[in-house]
Amino acid sequence: MDQAAIDRLRTTPVAEGHLWIDGKTCPGADGGRMDVISPIDGTVLTTIADASAQDVDRAVAAARSAFDTKSWSRAAPAERKKVMHRIADLIEAHALELAVLGVRDNGTEISMALKAEPGSAAATFRYYAEAIDKVYGEIAPTPDNVLGLIHREPVGVVGAIVPWNFPLMIGAWKIAPALAAGNSVVLKPAETASLSLLRLAELCHEAGLPDGVLNVVTGRGAVAGEALGLSMDVDVLAFTGSGGVGRKLLEYSARSNLKRVYLELGGKSPNLVFADAPDLDAAAKTAAFGIFRNSGQVCVAGSRLLVEQSIHEAFVEKVAAIAAKMKVGDPLDLTTQAGAINSLGQLEKNLSFVAQAQAEGAILATGGERILRDTGGFYMAPTVLDAVAPEMEVAREEVFGPVLTVQTFEDEAEAIQLANATAYGLASAVWTADLSRAHRMVRAIKAGVVHVNTYGGADATVPLGGVKQSGNGHDKSLHALDKFTDLKTAWIAL
Ligand code: NAD
Repeated sequence: MDQAAIDRLRTTPVAEGHLWIDGKTCPGADGGRMDVISPIDGTVLTTIADASAQDVDRAVAAARSAFDTKSWSRAAPAERKKVMHRIADLIEAHALELAVLGVRDNGTEISMALKAEPGSAAATFRYYAEAIDKVYGEIAPTPDNVLGLIHREPVGVVGAIVPWNFPLMIGAWKIAPALAAGNSVVLKPAETASLSLLRLAELCHEAGLPDGVLNVVTGRGAVAGEALGLSMDVDVLAFTGSGGVGRKLLEYSARSNLKRVYLELGGKSPNLVFADAPDLDAAAKTAAFGIFRNSGQVCVAGSRLLVEQSIHEAFVEKVAAIAAKMKVGDPLDLTTQAGAINSLGQLEKNLSFVAQAQAEGAILATGGERILRDTGGFYMAPTVLDAVAPEMEVAREEVFGPVLTVQTFEDEAEAIQLANATAYGLASAVWTADLSRAHRMVRAIKAGVVHVNTYGGADATVPLGGVKQSGNGHDKSLHALDKFTDLKTAWIAL
């Protein structure tokens, strides 16, 4: 990728954002606006519409009407597939534009954003485009005098609420399988990462997606998000974000139409390094990058390093040295390894976690402070906290920032006990050369994914989701289609 091309886009004026309802942009009913602050330098990039509950109802009505006209919901699978591929083509054709726009809005380093945002959004649309005409219904093994057919039907209107860390990628994880199954969607992006999703809606329109099938309402969670959660005409709510908001969504469902709610929540993922790990240098580098890329604003980040006691000192030294050398700063510089913190509020939250941990006895091995203040942007040094005790808040609660905690274990049993000692269960990793131990750990760790001798790694073909308080339901893979389809039985006397 070419730095000059990125630099040409970094100062392009950003148009004001409006709502996207029924195939066109429109202002909010009461004209409310919100500033978009760039975390790169703290300046106001543009403004976006601050949707009211009335705007959300309008978007849901457009989605319902599009669903009922059947222009998409009952279009031939091969037709839907063509449109979805065209969406992927357009995302790829506009990849740099989408990535730079998203980075100016949310602060992720561009090297990661290019892959994770337009890159995986396009791959996700292609994956579900290909699935559309390959998923069959079933014939049940009934007695001979009947025919039992099991149809898969779209659920109707899907509400999707997404966070700010990877808006395009996570947006696509909801939108693409929902559209592939024939549903209409109303998407509510995060307040601090809406711009690339508004642009995606325009590209979907250009690709031939019928009006009203995808709608985007920008605005505040407590207003627009709540209205979507309480809507009597949303059939399924697909959410990625914090546990606190997840609880509210379950409540909204109970207070409204009992819509199904799928929650992809946070994590406090353990990265376990045994003394027999095949390559401790690789393990240290991956441990650092597994938490510090995108400044730790990654749901699956390996935020808890659990190290076997015998290698603790040497290993933590390696990780801290890598962290201290990481290039943090201008997210639009291709050589930057960790970009900005999404907002000043999040930066302050990160710093207060560190201060509290130190007050409770944790030892700061590196980082722990705000840096690059003169840029006006929101940057934090990669931080390693050693001597963290399991009862400290920083060991139990998700920071969602560049903060790695270190704990030690004596043996496998203690490693498992520490790994499972939080309310979360999203991701994890084990580093060992012992194949049997690796398999034992995969069975013992309560998490949606257990990496072995690596961390991270993603593909549209494998499900992503958590257990315990990391949520329910899965994004990605064919399993995601289950969230957006209903089973219907036809029982036919022969
Ligand atoms: P958040 O929960 O604050 O916000 C997420 C979304 O919910 C935003 O669009 C927000 O506007 C909306 N929202 C806020 N209040 C609402 C309300 N009362 N009703 C309805 N909607 C409301 O989360 P965030 O700070 O944007 O993102 C960080 C969190 O997301 C972290 O916990 C992180 O782990 C999680 N996350 C999880 C995954 C995953 O796949 N499991 C992926 C990325 C991020």
